[in-house]
Amino acid sequence: RDSVKTFLRRNTFVIFTVAAVALGVVLGFALRPCNLTIREVKYFSFPGELLMRMLQMLVLPLIVSSLVTGISSLDSKASGKMGIRAIVYYMVTTFIAVFIGIVMVIIIRPGKGSRDSPVASSGSIEPVQAADAFLDLIRWGEKICFHQIYTILQSIQETVEEVVPVSGSSNGVNALGLVVFSMCFGLVIGNMKQQGQALRDFFDCLNEAIMRLVAIIIWYAPVGILFLIAGKIVEMKDLAQVGGQLGMYTVSVIVGLLIHGLVVLPLLFFVVTKKNPFTFIAGLLQALITALGTSSSSATLPITFRCLEENNHVDKRVTRFVLPVGATINMDGTALYEAVAAIFIAQVNDMDLNFGQILTISITATAASIGAAGIPQAGLVTMVIVLTSVGLPTEDITLIIAVDWFLDRLRTTTNVLGDSFGAGIVEHLSRQELQNQDVEISNSVIEE
Ligand code: ASP
Repeated sequence: RDSVKTFLRRNTFVIFTVAAVALGVVLGFALRPCNLTIREVKYFSFPGELLMRMLQMLVLPLIVSSLVTGISSLDSKASGKMGIRAIVYYMVTTFIAVFIGIVMVIIIRPGKGSRDSPVASSGSIEPVQAADAFLDLIRWGEKICFHQIYTILQSIQETVEEVVPVSGSSNGVNALGLVVFSMCFGLVIGNMKQQGQALRDFFDCLNEAIMRLVAIIIWYAPVGILFLIAGKIVEMKDLAQVGGQLGMYTVSVIVGLLIHGLVVLPLLFFVVTKKNPFTFIAGLLQALITALGTSSSSATLPITFRCLEENNHVDKRVTRFVLPVGATINMDGTALYEAVAAIFIAQVNDMDLNFGQILTISITATAASIGAAGIPQAGLVTMVIVLTSVGLPTEDITLIIAVDWFLDRLRTTTNVLGDSFGAGIVEHLSRQELQNQDVEISNSVIEE
């Protein structure tokens, strides 16, 4: 009985959170027949809205304080190496996610048999065979039009522009700008040696204080999640309408996300660290459920920090550095979804994509996921970049809006999972630098 008690005590938050999800679903379905008005649903969801706001309130000071302390506490060589490892991990996993999405949507073909007969309309275009891929690539090279180059450049430009101004974005905080500023600031005060000590202490203390606030908010999280989920179920459209093509599109995204989140990422984690990836996921459960409830990887960031540091014991120097960056630019779930959605829309329009166009979609889906903010349904907005890059009608985004709130929750959960595995992998790869740093610190303490 003692072990049961210990289990319950250790996992109180997780048990509450899982119970909140179950209760939210039951309550939501129970209230559906009441046909609440929009205003009533808004009032009903208010405890959930409160959670969102509490978490969002912490994001700005958390990103700044964690990045500044994280970077200034490492020597520039160590932070450089860590940064490169994180970026390589982000790029590789995002491309794998896009690839899985493309394979899923090509195999399942959710948009097939849409307008007229697909055979008749695609008669003038050769079907894409694996063996033709090389020829297609050459043909694409010849045919590549300014439109495509222009849209790729535009997506890169928009992403870079995001980096410069810190405020002024329509979504309130420009996280990417904040990340870049904090990294530069951290590097500068890290190089100021003794002179910068007061500032390092200040940000360190600020970070600690924010994490204590997180520890308080975490008690409220189950209540908020319960109402966020129940509120969404009350207001959602009848699921029976989501059949046919849209249903198959949803299945393609879900299967892709599951393969990426539960097979590819755990395998990568295991191969690199030799640790059990599912124990790691268990430690993250609360962050994953918060992502599911809030649809926002930024809002989930405070909880992700806590889960990684408290449950999975990832070194704070690593989480402080890589998590804010990951939550802002590394979105595997979003990239996968963007690729599936674009190809689905092409299928609905009976447009056969050649190898070059699929390559364009992969690149722009990656750029669009980097550019998307960690807020609800940001991916739907950046979809425009992907669609215009291959000349697909942007108004067809309306085809997928009905299920987007649901897919958004799942892709956000995958995004948070990807960032967390990234922190675990970067920590493992950087253990030598971290040890050296420990030795330096203990030497300087002995000298003093
Ligand atoms: N909601 C997602 C996130 O916060 C972004 C997206 O819409 O894909 O990670």
